Amino acid sequence: MARYTDASCRLCRREGEKLFLKGERCYTNKCAVQRRAYAPGQHGQQKKKLSEYGVQLREKQKARRFYGVLESQFRKYFEIASSKKGITGENLLQVLETRMDNVIYRMGLAGSRPEARQLVRHGHFTVNGQKVNIPSYIVKVGDAISVRDKSKSSPKIKAVREAAGRVVPKWLEFDAENLNGKVVALPAREDIDIPIREHLIVELYSK
Ligand code: SF4
Repeated sequence: MARYTDASCRLCRREGEKLFLKGERCYTNKCAVQRRAYAPGQHGQQKKKLSEYGVQLREKQKARRFYGVLESQFRKYFEIASSKKGITGENLLQVLETRMDNVIYRMGLAGSRPEARQLVRHGHFTVNGQKVNIPSYIVKVGDAISVRDKSKSSPKIKAVREAAGRVVPKWLEFDAENLNGKVVALPAREDIDIPIREHLIVELYSK
């Protein structure tokens, strides 16, 4: 599948916001958003007034980039969100949050979402005892997520776990000793700390 492979920091600079795509580095003063707080490229420092469409588009791109999702998949998530009861924008964020790679990141088992995606692809985790190596796998309430036995001693998992130390959101449980956890609820909007104005995405796709 096609995937963005250029420098991650350019994405943050394009959105004018930290998207936390590089783990530790994002929390230091090496962060490119802090050092060069303008869009990349030749005209990046020019101030442009965005149209209403432009504002909506940027918000959607920001959400896509936070979660590392391609346009076609993001559109599918929007369709799932609109077919559910409740507020479409909140449903959309809920679907994105329950992706397997995001759950691994939220549990503190990876330093960033891109790293979580890679660890999932490499088959380090199980859901309800079955190996899952699909980053877009959507978890459900009650699902038990574990690091596979043979991966528990992996230097990568150990290093990441020691470095991460993230607060686990209340819709997830995580046992750092045994490296396993559970989805105890679906995330509510107040549990999702990313700075996205989801109503703008709904407006964009409803045109
Ligand atoms: Fe974004 Fe992290 Fe790069 Fe800063 S260091 S620009 S937050 S990916």
